[in-house]
Amino acid sequence: MKYQIEAKPYGSYDVVVCGGGTAGCFAAIGAAREGVKVLLIERSFTIGGMLTVGEAGITKFSEHCRDVNVYKSEVLDMLANEPKKVQVVGGIAHEYVKRMIDAGTALGTHGEAGSYVFTDKAEAQWVLMQMLAEAGVEVLYDTRVVLVNKDGDTVTSVVVVNKEGFCEIEAKQVIDTTGDADVAALAGVPFHKGATAEEVAQGYAKVEGEMQHFGTMYRVRNIDYTSLFDYLKANPDRFVQHEFGVMSLENVKESYENGEMCVFRIDLKDWSPVHGSYYVQVYNLPEKDEAILLGPGCGYHNGNGLDARVISDGQYFLQNGAHILTEVLRARIPGFENVRITYIPDVGVRETRHIIGEYRMEIVDVLSGKDFEDSVACGGHPIDIHPLPPEVEHVDLNHWRFHIPYRVMLPKNVENLLVAGRCISATRGASGAIRPTAQCMALGEAAGVAAAMAVKENKTPKAVDVQALRAKLAENGAIL
Ligand SMILES: Cc1cc2nc3c(=O)[nH]c(=O)nc-3n(C[C@H](O)[C@H](O)[C@H](O)COP(=O)(O)OP(=O)(O)OC[C@H]3O[C@@H](n4cnc5c(N)ncnc54)[C@H](O)[C@@H]3O)c2cc1C
Repeated sequence: MKYQIEAKPYGSYDVVVCGGGTAGCFAAIGAAREGVKVLLIERSFTIGGMLTVGEAGITKFSEHCRDVNVYKSEVLDMLANEPKKVQVVGGIAHEYVKRMIDAGTALGTHGEAGSYVFTDKAEAQWVLMQMLAEAGVEVLYDTRVVLVNKDGDTVTSVVVVNKEGFCEIEAKQVIDTTGDADVAALAGVPFHKGATAEEVAQGYAKVEGEMQHFGTMYRVRNIDYTSLFDYLKANPDRFVQHEFGVMSLENVKESYENGEMCVFRIDLKDWSPVHGSYYVQVYNLPEKDEAILLGPGCGYHNGNGLDARVISDGQYFLQNGAHILTEVLRARIPGFENVRITYIPDVGVRETRHIIGEYRMEIVDVLSGKDFEDSVACGGHPIDIHPLPPEVEHVDLNHWRFHIPYRVMLPKNVENLLVAGRCISATRGASGAIRPTAQCMALGEAAGVAAAMAVKENKTPKAVDVQALRAKLAENGAIL
């Protein structure tokens, strides 16, 4: 059935950022700080997306080392003395987390942003709101982008729906930070969903189109960490090093006692409520008796974040899973006896569309740490997808970082659109390393500054002088 709608004019902006999540907030702040008129559109009433309301860990600001001793002495301890040597993300993302670490509302390592940063959720949102206001960004909440208008290869306006009905907003430059590349898809940018046939052949997925599972990282309180650490010391087979935030039990205890970030896993073995999934990931929080947990039951396989019924099913499934897991922990693991759930985020979608851009980042670009002439951000997170072919899973990554080129944010077919966040132009495998929050924030900032330059120079983002963009980002503290 076809409908005709009328959209009322709702203003004209230099840069319209669609999606006020992890990448979007930093795109908006980055652009507005360059002096252009910016509107940020967010479908919910909360800002920050997976970064704040999703409770994802904020990672990874530092290089990776696989070896626990090397990691401790050459990354974690280095953060105390020469953080610049090991950090891979600076700029506005660093400014944001540092503001919270210094205020005691986020946990870092030696007062710095290291592998993981976890926050007081209310503060994480409030600081973002303040930074957006300070930069002069106008934020339109409770507003969803549903259509785009184009003139040839140029997006002239986006159509949104909110309490006022359909509204049309004109834009010189548009940034898609919806996570799902909604705007790019509406504008006719080519994309693939989940894994490609080629990736199936290479062993990165079982079937074409397979997307990473949905998940939820939920918040609990009343943990007795002293009892828990004593139990893990007495039962070393229950303690498992976290794969990405590599810490021994001694490192974990020391960090916890110093009021710093610690991450680890507990092996539930046959107490697990889910066959084939046994590890509970524990991330401490600024409140000493709190934690974020992710474990068996907190994943929903065969998810499709573009299917409204599947996402809705996932919402119930994951809430249920979190309650079941909590019951097991209460009953079985000392330290969790009195634990109480305080917050379960909405279903977390890890992967949907990947746009096809001017460059498609491949797994080899990530693992080799290849530098690009147009690199605008760095990462240090290993590839977080399953399955991974064994030759990739066991690559020795020590003092490792990778670079992300500007071209992954430049979609084919549309001229005045940038795409930042988890849906950039990358294979599913490469996305497994690029989608962490710190990298999305850094890419957001780069997209925002590029869009502002395009407005001021009356060019398309593809025609912006990328070396001038890199110089500007570096001047603002970004690590390229
Ligand atoms: C369960 C789970 C655990 C994770 N754990 C970690 C972790 O520990 N560390 C880490 O670094 N990363 C983690 N990640 C990954 C990371 O959180 C995401 O990849 C990243 O935050 C994505 O950022 P984004 O800006 O692309 O999307 P989002 O942060 O999701 O932002 C998208 C925003 O756009 C809005 N939006 C969507 N569509 C529209 C529309 N049509 N109109 C208007 N607004 C719209 C949404 O409401 C949202 O605010 C995890 C992800 C999941 C799902």
